[in-house]
Amino acid sequence: MDLYTLQRKELVVSLEKLGIKDINVLNAILKVKRENFVKEEFKKYSYENIALPINSNQTISQPFTVAFMTEQLAVSPGEKILEIGTGSGYQTAILSEMGAEVYSIERIKELSEEAEMKLFSSGYRVRLKNDDGTMGWQEYSPFDKIIVTAGSPKIPKILLSQLKTGGRMVIPVGSESVQELTVVKKSIDEKTSLPVFKAKKFREFKFVPLIGKEGWQLI
Ligand code: SAM
Repeated sequence: MDLYTLQRKELVVSLEKLGIKDINVLNAILKVKRENFVKEEFKKYSYENIALPINSNQTISQPFTVAFMTEQLAVSPGEKILEIGTGSGYQTAILSEMGAEVYSIERIKELSEEAEMKLFSSGYRVRLKNDDGTMGWQEYSPFDKIIVTAGSPKIPKILLSQLKTGGRMVIPVGSESVQELTVVKKSIDEKTSLPVFKAKKFREFKFVPLIGKEGWQLI
């Protein structure tokens, strides 16, 4: 067994100890080679439970954060999932490994192109777009699930409208320095036939900012 495979197994054990229970999430983390999504100089830290710098001043999220968010998303094979913030492509690969049909948007062209190369060379067939993800992806909506991997000042209304009834969205919401991981479930009010959104807040995280029309503004 090579060193990375061993370290991947150890990471999964540590994530279980930290409370991750979804076996499908743990299996995906066991399979996706995080070292392929990390910059050359940080490869030796691929399986440390830490966020690492990627190009354009962005980050690949900490493995625990990826595991926790994916667990909250409750992914089933075949579901259509929209990810906002492709970044390194690691979270995209985890969702694809779990059998989801993944659509992912990244606002920084360089990152979107790099992620495309890494994902396709690793065998993940996903659909990527370089754009402002706060506008969603109308053409392929509605989605079963939406995951936002950057911190937002609010829940973008357009994303809520692109969610299926019965669907859920996982999004960090808060200030630029700290956000609460928020899970929103969409249902229909039987009397009015209008959509109803129920939000539950979980623990705090620190994400890079979601920059866009419905996120933080660039000044
Ligand atoms: N899922 C990523 C991974 O596994 O590497 C995490 C990437 S990082 C924490 C968040 C990413 O969101 C950054 O690459 C950033 O450029 C991107 N981002 C920020 N605002 C965005 C927006 N409005 N639309 C799309 N991507 C955005």
